[in-house]
Amino acid sequence: MSVAIIQAQQLRKEYLSPAGNFLALKGIDLEVRAGEFVAIMGPSGSGKSTLMNLLGCLDQPTSGRYILNGTDIAGLDDNRLADLRNRAIGFVFQSYNLLPRLTVGANVALPLVYAGVRAAERKKRAREILQQLGLANYFHTYPPRLSGGQQQRVAIARALVQRPALVLADEPTGNLDLATGNDILALLTRLNTENGVTIVMVTHDANVARRARRLIRIVDGDKAFDGAVMDDAA
Ligand code: ADP
Ligand code: MG
Repeated sequence: MSVAIIQAQQLRKEYLSPAGNFLALKGIDLEVRAGEFVAIMGPSGSGKSTLMNLLGCLDQPTSGRYILNGTDIAGLDDNRLADLRNRAIGFVFQSYNLLPRLTVGANVALPLVYAGVRAAERKKRAREILQQLGLANYFHTYPPRLSGGQQQRVAIARALVQRPALVLADEPTGNLDLATGNDILALLTRLNTENGVTIVMVTHDANVARRARRLIRIVDGDKAFDGAVMDDAA
């Protein structure tokens, strides 16, 4: 039995605004174990990104308990939370979020800067992961010169460079054409099956969900389904 990476109990998130408060998550229970590949689906506005932000410690729940990689985040101040996030989680976003004025190598090495890794080691590890993802030739290239698919591969390299316990991907293929999106999904699938990287991924695409072994459906801030993906589902 592998260890639990995510243990969330009754996660609620209420957004407060003068126009009225909005309950975006109504009490989500979720456990994800090391090595899982979980797809999250659901209508637009159902709370998927809100959940990902909580799981990624980018935002705090209004109530509920969240234990990430064995650490209850409730007890952490901002610095220690940022440190845990940086060490434990790699993020992949729809919009890549690369820094255009840094080279690909520097972008990939950035999480290691925050982690206090020295320069020579940063460079070595950035090279290794870029090599593994077939991007070795782009080390000195600037992101705007790359295609969308290449930029997303760089973002995945950056997410992996710290060897995080968990990769969170929020609609990672949302800005890509079908073929390129499929390449990215094949890459994520390979990282999961061959390298054991734990992945939680939001997607709109039922074909994508097929690559995961577990599907969670979120509707109106609640979990509407959580179970195995059938091979013949799509
Ligand atoms: P999804 O990712 O499933 O499309 P979100 O989690 O982004 O959904 O949003 C869920 C609901 O919460 C939506 O109704 C959205 O308008 C609302 N919401 C999201 N972020 C905020 C915010 N910062 N302030 C107020 N409401 C928000
Ligand atoms: Mg979203």
